[in-house]
Amino acid sequence: MSKLRKIVLSEDDMPRQWYNLAADLPISPYMGPNGPVPPEAWAPVFPMNLIEQEYSQERWIDIPEGVLELLTRWRPAPLHRAYNLEAALKTPAKIYYKNESLSPAGSHKPNTAVAQAWYNKEFGIKRLTTETGAGQWGSALSFACSLVGLECKVFMVKISFDQKPFRKLMMQTWGGNCIASPSTETKAGRDILKKYPDTPGSLGIAISEAIEAAVTDPTGQTRYALGSVLNHVMLHQTIIGLEAKKQLKIAGEKKVDVVIGCAGGGSNFAGLSFPFVYDKINGADIDIIPVEPSSCPTLTKAPYVYDHGDTAKMTPLVAMFSLGHNFVPAPIHAGGLRYHGMSPLVSKAVKEGLMNPLALHQLECYEAGLLFAKTEGIIPAPETTHAIAATIREAKKAKEEGKEKVILFNFSGHGLMDLVGYDKYLSGQLTDYELPDEVIQKNLEEIKDYPKP
Ligand SMILES: *Cc1c(COP(=O)(O)O)cnc(C)c1O
Repeated sequence: MSKLRKIVLSEDDMPRQWYNLAADLPISPYMGPNGPVPPEAWAPVFPMNLIEQEYSQERWIDIPEGVLELLTRWRPAPLHRAYNLEAALKTPAKIYYKNESLSPAGSHKPNTAVAQAWYNKEFGIKRLTTETGAGQWGSALSFACSLVGLECKVFMVKISFDQKPFRKLMMQTWGGNCIASPSTETKAGRDILKKYPDTPGSLGIAISEAIEAAVTDPTGQTRYALGSVLNHVMLHQTIIGLEAKKQLKIAGEKKVDVVIGCAGGGSNFAGLSFPFVYDKINGADIDIIPVEPSSCPTLTKAPYVYDHGDTAKMTPLVAMFSLGHNFVPAPIHAGGLRYHGMSPLVSKAVKEGLMNPLALHQLECYEAGLLFAKTEGIIPAPETTHAIAATIREAKKAKEEGKEKVILFNFSGHGLMDLVGYDKYLSGQLTDYELPDEVIQKNLEEIKDYPKP
């Protein structure tokens, strides 16, 4: 066979260490009312072993044998060459994608879910709480908790809870307990419901609820798990890019020109791109592109500030691009991309000019998703279509320039649980929505006196 469509590593070839970008790109500390937040302050929220990772400055961190064993249930993930998409675009570019849709939950999220569940179990924790937007993270954590033997409670953003009943059923099948947020179970939820009884919910609200539910457990055996944004989550996801590097080498590629991923909290994008950011810091010429929806333009329109990670201001201040912790995004179908903030590491890399963020409208993304499904065969998650649309733009640019560029993107998940969004697109019910600058300015009012990173 002359055409290698998939590059598949053996389990023995799996990376044995994660890459920690914080070693090469120092970030501003988390801030509390009394200055920088020390690691111990997080103890009610996360187990100490994960807090150590959150603060680590080590470049390489060993993946424990127990975590590797969990990851090998579906990893290594194949790297595909998108020959059919290339042909449809008549581009000289070579398009590769890392297929993270093959995990049991259907996305990259189990990469960190199994690691977090394992570390919590090691630390003696019995129960995890979390929030979920589109339901991907809630199902990934429910899956992971069932593997290691932890209870799991998921606060699901109400709009998705109503729109995506199948994700809830996946969580229940894996033994997770999923409820709509805002809920009446927490003070944070009750306060929001009193003010806005008809709110569609937001990730910020659900995070407040999940943290409250964890820290108020009188037995002290509950902790909280976050599916994106934090440093240790980015760390766990770097297995994606580290595998991809090995696979590109096998494919005979000496150099990558463009690396692309969709960015909600930043984790799948970071997972693929950080090992390449390392190369870029060390002189490589790579265009690294996080892609977000125009309706939630965190990296392209929001300022780099200190802000809370959640609506009820339970988290410390995080140095990041933020649309303001009160921001409630339009109910677009790419639910995983509707977060007001962004990973501090991704934010810092953008701030330092190591990345070139792009915002896209949903109609262009769905169109790209359909082309991908018809050519490569896999139906992408609405989030993933953002990476595909950006890849198509780059492939067209390569055609105009007559360059045989190597483009790598992250296929973060499949869309088989998101067909309602496709239904809306196919029946012409979706429109583009650009977040007006006035709305952004208004949301940022409340944080204008916060310290600056
Ligand atoms: C959750 C999710 C995203 C967005 O989250 P990140 O942390 O930015 O990766 C993207 N794609 C899929 C399929 C998801 O489930």
